[in-house]
Amino acid sequence: MGAFDVAIVGGGPAGSSCAAFCALAGLRTLVLERENFPREKVCGDCLNPSCWPVLERLGVAQLVRDLPHSRLAAVEFIAIEGHKVIVDLPTGSDCELSVKRSLFDDLLLKRARDLGAHVREGTTVTALAHSRNWKIETRGSENFFARTLVGADGRNSTVARLWNLLPRPARERVALQAHIPLPRHFDKRVVLQFLREGYSGQAPVNETELNLCLVGTPPTISRLRQWAERHFEITADQLWRTITPLTRSPVPCAHDGLFFIGDAARVVEPFTGEGIYYALRSGELAAKAITEINRGKDRQSALREFTRACAQMYRGRLWINRLARAAVLSPRMGSFFVHAAEINPSILKFLTAKIVSREL
Ligand SMILES: Cc1cc2nc3c(=O)[nH]c(=O)nc-3n(C[C@H](O)[C@H](O)[C@H](O)COP(=O)(O)OP(=O)(O)OC[C@H]3O[C@@H](n4cnc5c(N)ncnc54)[C@H](O)[C@@H]3O)c2cc1C
Repeated sequence: MGAFDVAIVGGGPAGSSCAAFCALAGLRTLVLERENFPREKVCGDCLNPSCWPVLERLGVAQLVRDLPHSRLAAVEFIAIEGHKVIVDLPTGSDCELSVKRSLFDDLLLKRARDLGAHVREGTTVTALAHSRNWKIETRGSENFFARTLVGADGRNSTVARLWNLLPRPARERVALQAHIPLPRHFDKRVVLQFLREGYSGQAPVNETELNLCLVGTPPTISRLRQWAERHFEITADQLWRTITPLTRSPVPCAHDGLFFIGDAARVVEPFTGEGIYYALRSGELAAKAITEINRGKDRQSALREFTRACAQMYRGRLWINRLARAAVLSPRMGSFFVHAAEINPSILKFLTAKIVSREL
């Protein structure tokens, strides 16, 4: 098969975006993905409006709008004691939209394939070696070779772990997620609900299903599950997907011949629902840098520009993320915000508008 220009580990939004842009630029591109798509994953399924410009550049914006989805008109914050504040979301074609990850991720990976990327599903990367090229070993002993390697393999990145770059996981929170029957009269809204044990995110993903996420700590998560069973009348044998950690230190995104994008580079607080945007955009930025290096641009300056562009992407947004994390780590403080917003909603409106603005 020979060496690829770029091998991307992980076919989520970050990996597919990077692969599509690399293939579009004419690079010999390989994607290695552990799962067989379509597959669900732990996520709130909400697409922040900032995703639209990247999806347009990928040529899939209309295809995403054509998937079964819900257009979300408002976000409702609910305090522990039940007080509620509703903030409207942008309307029109650039609205916040929820779509199941099985559909969204499959569409993106297909786009990368259609643009010429070689995609290997059901292929788990297990070992790496680097001399002139990267040697990538997979379960089943098939090896691949590439000049550049991209870690797009999520928050528990195997690439970062194999290269001794993965920060030690904190004793941390855990998230559960399921699709359950949509309660009647749920409306087109996202609900962010503070609970004594953590919080819950809820959003309709089509006409019949609700995405339900629960975030707590290992000792509290079973109580959150019991709350969900009572609140949504679901049975104790409901299947939940699970993931941890929800917070960890970032991995430096640029190395010689090695890039990290999406959650593999930086994990953000799920409460703000921005992770997919960062994944798509960092994939695009990495593709630009890799293409330039392949066309002969000085490697170090391309890496510096990529690092700067990634920092720029997060600039002005991370403080909201930290605020959201503080609120969800202390649901009482989160509830206090909701009470304060009942009296004066302008702060919550301002924060929501910052999060759901179109791409910077
Ligand atoms: C509870 C929760 C709710 C969230 N809600 C939202 C939301 O509503 N909106 C939003 O924008 N973001 C949300 N996020 C964040 C969002 O899910 C992530 O930011 C996003 O999935 C990151 O995309 P990615 O492509 O970087 O990684 P991923 O989507 O995790 O994709 C990584 C891929 O790599 C593959 N992989 C892993 N290891 C290997 C290996 N060794 N070999 C080959 N392949 C491998 C995996 O199978 C996977 O397909 C939420 C997160 C959580 C935890």
